[in-house]
Amino acid sequence: MTSIRSLFLSLIPFLLLSSSCTVANTENPPVEPLLITNDKPYKQIIQETVVIDSQVYTIPASWQGQRIGARPLTKPPLVQVPSEFVKDGGKIYLLPEACAAFKAMAETAKQNNIQMLIDSGYRSEWYQKKIYKRQMEKGKTFAEVARYVAPPGYSEHMLGLAVDFHPSDWRFFKTDVYPWLKVHAGEFGFRETYPEHGPAKKPWEPSHWRYLAPATQL
Ligand SMILES: [Zn+2]
Repeated sequence: MTSIRSLFLSLIPFLLLSSSCTVANTENPPVEPLLITNDKPYKQIIQETVVIDSQVYTIPASWQGQRIGARPLTKPPLVQVPSEFVKDGGKIYLLPEACAAFKAMAETAKQNNIQMLIDSGYRSEWYQKKIYKRQMEKGKTFAEVARYVAPPGYSEHMLGLAVDFHPSDWRFFKTDVYPWLKVHAGEFGFRETYPEHGPAKKPWEPSHWRYLAPATQL
């Protein structure tokens, strides 16, 4: 009798354990969504992430909620930008309407003795990951790269409508092309979409301009 009782008692921990559907995993506690307060009702923020080479990176706050859901483009519909307007005559692609508008703008600028050259046009999400990979291999963190390059999946370049003028960094705003664009780009449907004081607090990219629609249609 005693042995049956002791056998039953020894089984209790197993019986309790098996009656539970989930066992708490103390090594990997569930990640709670980040909660912030602004003296207003609690607002839930879902952290957005991107995976590069099996590593998960959190999208910085300045890019959260700005993901562009665009499929990779191919040629056609992509068309090649005339090489006379491309730095070192390389191959850069845009969608036809953006390419035609850019060509018209660059030719008009040329008549005003402004030489437009671009460093970049269409870039796939895959290529954007490659840019990040290269920068991180040089020792930069994901967050550091995100200060001046849109994260993969967040770049307007994947739309086939955006260009980066040369030089494609902050120095561009000191060229004679930048003030010309400020005055005339709208006539050709181009806008500076990562401006110095933009509402979305994205990094300022003076060399980045996107085709939207002619100013008369905006
Ligand atoms: Zn750009």
